[in-house]
Amino acid sequence: MAWRSSGASNKALIDNLASNGLINSERVKQAMLGVDRAHYAPYAPYQDSPQTIGHRATISAPHMHASACESLLPYLKTGSRVLDVGSGSGYLTHVLAELVKPGGTVVGVEHIQPLVDIGTANTRKSQGGRELMDNGGIEYVKADGRLGYPEGAAYDAIHVGAAAADFHQALIDQLKAPGR
Ligand code: SAH
Repeated sequence: MAWRSSGASNKALIDNLASNGLINSERVKQAMLGVDRAHYAPYAPYQDSPQTIGHRATISAPHMHASACESLLPYLKTGSRVLDVGSGSGYLTHVLAELVKPGGTVVGVEHIQPLVDIGTANTRKSQGGRELMDNGGIEYVKADGRLGYPEGAAYDAIHVGAAAADFHQALIDQLKAPGR
């Protein structure tokens, strides 16, 4: 049921993703309800499709973000540490931070400085986002994600939102065992 979950509001989009079986857990549903995609997707934020965010990058489709969160969920607990490689718009970084608060940290790594700035500005549009940025729940850094971000390791979960041609051992080295 991917691509058929668009709605007229953030709540309608998330409700449709849930009723179409693309969101299965209440925790992921609540986290996605807590982050308004309109703060992150400049055009058609409630369509279940990727959207351009400039700089030859896209914000992924909502069902892809739902899938990533569902897949990582066993490793997303209060206080968990997460690395989000290719943070782009910042949307998924913020949703992941909702899933590990209070006490958790999500480091969003992005290699294009204007996108680091956009992700930061997008997150600061909401009070919840500002609180996470101010209390260490979200940190955006400009770095080459192929090297991970050793300063923040070890991570309970690492999400890679960028295409990878090769296997990058640095990411495995920075992952806890167990981790995902
Ligand atoms: N997860 C984000 C963006 C996905 S697009 C979202 O859904 O909004 C992929 C992002 O990965 C782009 O922003 C791109 O600039 C970034 N990227 C690509 N290669 C990278 C690398 N080596 N290091 C860090 N970021 C990278």
